[in-house]
Amino acid sequence: MKRWHMIVDLAKCVGCFNCLMACKDEHVGNQWLPYTDEQQRHEDKWIEPVRHERGVAPYTEVCFVPMTCQQCDDAPCAKVCPDAFVKRSDGIMLIDPARAKGNKALKDACPYGAIQWNEELNCAQKCTMCAHLLDQGWKEPRCVQACPLRALSVVYCEDAEFDRMAAKQRLKPLTDGSNHPRVLYKNLYKYNKCFIAGGLAYQDGDIEKAAVDAKIKLSMNGVLLKEVYADFLGEYKIDRLPKNSGTYTLEFTMDGYKPMTTEVTLGEESPCLPCMKFEKLS
Ligand code: SF4
Ligand code: SF4
Repeated sequence: MKRWHMIVDLAKCVGCFNCLMACKDEHVGNQWLPYTDEQQRHEDKWIEPVRHERGVAPYTEVCFVPMTCQQCDDAPCAKVCPDAFVKRSDGIMLIDPARAKGNKALKDACPYGAIQWNEELNCAQKCTMCAHLLDQGWKEPRCVQACPLRALSVVYCEDAEFDRMAAKQRLKPLTDGSNHPRVLYKNLYKYNKCFIAGGLAYQDGDIEKAAVDAKIKLSMNGVLLKEVYADFLGEYKIDRLPKNSGTYTLEFTMDGYKPMTTEVTLGEESPCLPCMKFEKLS
């Protein structure tokens, strides 16, 4: 049976907030019962691109992580309050607006913080994946339609077909996947992995020059893991390293110069090493 799946690509999202605004446009002032009551004008965000920074100056990087209901198949929210949720056969999870009235406990039932409390209507609400539109034949929800970079997309297919697609495109769940979310992320390393960055230089007479094309080898316990080259500024960046993954050795080489090594222990953050300078071989 075909069901809905969403893909979010962190390499494409630029944090323009069009998705959030399209969601507001669809749901503020509009009552789409029995799917959902209207959304609050200002407080609630059923989808929100959340800014995430990595690195230390001068090597920093920002990405935006669109956060929304993950449409979990094994949903913690529904376990807390089974009567208030409706899992449709097409995979979409809805909150029953009548049962969500006055039930403030629902707000904390989602580990992703996707359920919001509408003070004006005294009820819990969340993203419906625009089920009222999909049921009319729309091919995608308003947020997806409004995304200018196609960072959001939906796929309506058999789960097995989507699993193949997810493996091929390396789609990952936002957390450990134990809730079986129907929203998967592409290029999630921008959110949950670290990089090691730095610069390399050498002395040429009175001038310090960028060590363009110097080679950098990353290893751990004597096992080579990655090999990259410095760019035209003599800078390097080795990405997709797991957080808290231990101590790495970096070896820097450049023809005609003495090799250099250093060690880095990865924690939660992406470290940036000070510029290192090659010495000429005598
Ligand atoms: S993301 Fe939260 S609200 Fe959405 S289905 Fe999962 S647990 Fe429920
Ligand atoms: S509309 Fe697309 S690019 Fe803009 S913030 Fe939303 S997901 Fe990102």
